[in-house]
Formats: sequence, C-alpha cells, structure tokens
Amino acid sequence: MSKLEEILEKARKEPGLLLFLTGAGISAESGIPTFRGKDGFWTAGSKVYRPEELATFSTFRSRPGDVWEWYLLRRETCLRVEPNAAHHALVKIEEKWGDRFRLITQNVDGLHLRAGNSLERTWQIHGDINLMRCAAECTDAVQPVGDGKNLRCDRCGDWMRPHVLWFDEYYNEEWYRFESSLAAASGAALLVVVGTSGATNLPIQVGMRAAERGAYLVDVNPEPNPFSEWAESSPRGKAVTGKASERLPRIAELLLKD
Ligand code: NAD
Ligand code: ZN
Repeated sequence: MSKLEEILEKARKEPGLLLFLTGAGISAESGIPTFRGKDGFWTAGSKVYRPEELATFSTFRSRPGDVWEWYLLRRETCLRVEPNAAHHALVKIEEKWGDRFRLITQNVDGLHLRAGNSLERTWQIHGDINLMRCAAECTDAVQPVGDGKNLRCDRCGDWMRPHVLWFDEYYNEEWYRFESSLAAASGAALLVVVGTSGATNLPIQVGMRAAERGAYLVDVNPEPNPFSEWAESSPRGKAVTGKASERLPRIAELLLKD
C-alpha cells in the first residue's frame, strides 16, 4: 500500500471532517491564470499594476473604473472556461461523504459551485467574482454582477464593488466564513491542500490548526510550498507532486471505495 493510500484509508475511518483547501492552482488547468503567473499583471493607461496593488480597497477608491475593468475582464474569463477533472473529483467526494465533506476555497472564480459542490459546504473565503455589494456598505446585501453595466448602488448611489476580499481588508464570518473555516480545521480528520502557495493568512492558519489536531495532511501541487514541506516532515502527511487534474481523480477514487 502506498503512503497516500494508507493515509486516506486511515483518515476515512477516523471521526472528523474530510477538509479540502483549494487555491488558484486548481483552476489553472481550466485556463484561469494564477496571480503569480505572467498573466496576473494589468496595464491601465501607462501604468502596469501587480494584483497586490490593484486588488485593494484603496486603489478601488482612487481608480474604481480601472479596478472594475480588471474584474469584469477576469469575470469574463471565469464564465468562459469550464471546471476540470479536479473540480469534478471534489463533487464526487462530496456526493459520497455528505456532511463529513467541507471545501474551503481561495478562488473567486465560482468553478467549484458550477461543477456541482454545494453552497452550504463550499466556503469561498476570498469571495466570488460574480457577486458585488455596496462599497459604502449602506447594506450588507450581496447581489449578482449581472451584465456589469449598472455599477452604482440603488440605495445610496455610491459605487458597487466586487464581492472579494482585498489585500488591505480583513476576513470576517458573515461574508468570508472566517470562524467556520478555523472551526472546520480544528475538526478535520484529513486536510487536502490543492494548488495553493500559502501566501495568504487564513490558509496557513487552517493548515496549522489541522496539524495541531493531528489531522492527516495531503498536499497536491507541482511545486514545493509550505504545506508540502509540512506534509513531508510528518508521518501523517504526504506531498503529491503533480497537477491537480491528474492527481485529484485518484484521491477521489481512494476516498470513494467501499
Ligand atoms: P498563487 O497564485 O499564489 O499560487 C498558485 C499555486 O498553484 C502555486 O503554488 C502553484 O505551484 C500551484 N499550481 C499551478 N498549477 C497547478 C496545477 N495545475 N495543479 C496544482 N497546483 C498548481 O495562488 P493562491 O495561493 O491561490 O493565492 C492567490 C490569491 O489570488 C488567492 O487569494 C485568490 O483569491 C486569488 N486568485 C484567485 C484566482 C481564481 O479564482 N481562480 C486566480 C488567481 C488568483
Ligand atoms: Zn449603498
């Protein structure tokens, strides 16, 4: 029995959640660039922005048109592409395990939901590019972006903004399921991390909590990252080096066995 088979076999038998944490890498093979790839950059006029500059509330307040242009273009890409084999594998795992399954995603592309994972068990901790809300927060309500033509708040007339967590903002429970994600990590029998570089705060905390609880840890990524290092240094971990669409179907197969 391989180490991966052994870990998944044991995790199935222990009480606790089967928790999946996904990042931009799982959608890369669908054709959505990761932020660190060369396509992450954006030119507005003569200035070239990095995502860390553009994806902030302060840039939105000074150049709302540029920020919306970037989001609307990214949203078009998201709507044009299809979920891949890795997304579909996660749907099969939820179908089999029901309420033992949880999915925390950093992706804003909506592909997990389009593939068929349920909204109740899929926590989009950085928001959803298909949704928007009032930038002045005159109401907490979130609504679809629609055709992207009406970007003003019906109630107060301020700009609407993309419903995503920006680099100069904080997680909360209501919009981003912050506490729920930490609680899920504390209650996980297994954590499978897919396609994330670990550059943001909540995913690292989720990994640390799960490790403290003694959860089994699997990392799927073609490149080394903090999660693969933890996995390899633990007897309860395994770093699977490879692409999500090639590796997740096998993990699903092992978790679907009777
Ligand atoms: P990241 O760009 O920092 O890292 C992507 C990771 O995916 C890297 O570790 C890379 O090695 C790995 N990867 C690349 N191709 C892969 C493949 N085929 N299979 C598996 N792994 C692969 O992305 P991040 O850590 O998710 O964080 C960046 C932030 O940017 C996130 O907060 C997210 O909200 C946002 N973002 C979202 C999207 C999206 O919604 N699809 C895309 C880009 C950025
Ligand atoms: Zn408003």
